[in-house]
Amino acid sequence: MNLVSNSPWIVHYNCNSCNGCDIEFVACLSPLYDVERFGALHVGNPKHADMLVVTGSVNHRNARVLRNVYEQMPSPKVVLAMGVCTSSGGVFAGCYNILGGIDTVIPVDVFVPGCPPRPEAMIDGVVKALAVLEDKRRGAETATPAKPALTFFPPAPPAQEAARQEAAHA
Ligand code: SF4
Repeated sequence: MNLVSNSPWIVHYNCNSCNGCDIEFVACLSPLYDVERFGALHVGNPKHADMLVVTGSVNHRNARVLRNVYEQMPSPKVVLAMGVCTSSGGVFAGCYNILGGIDTVIPVDVFVPGCPPRPEAMIDGVVKALAVLEDKRRGAETATPAKPALTFFPPAPPAQEAARQEAAHA
């Protein structure tokens, strides 16, 4: 893990979430989980942020807003996809208006699995994103993150469900 030299300023966008992920993310900011111990600051203006936390599944209506929030952030910047909805659409995957994961609209640096992820997993994602942000600040290449193995809820297509079961029992 790289050492980080600056505190992340985080902007959060609820991209059609059920609010489950958002409640857990708010818990991270509470004294119990205390993500501020890593210097994180929750801000309301994307122009002030270098870390974007997204919850929920992206759809035709809010894709434009998500892209707009992302483009307002100065570079270098990192994107955390919190929860299975941001990876694949989650429980909403396959709905007529859902585009799928948010990586269909903006680049993602860290995926955090879970429905919702626990605050500990979210904080782990923030720390991983800090390392990616530091790499970007140094001008280093950053890898495209692998999606979590468990990104589909039933009814998943049979082939994907078989792969999901195989991964779950590996
Ligand atoms: S991953 Fe689960 S908790 Fe989070 S927004 Fe989707 S359905 Fe809600």
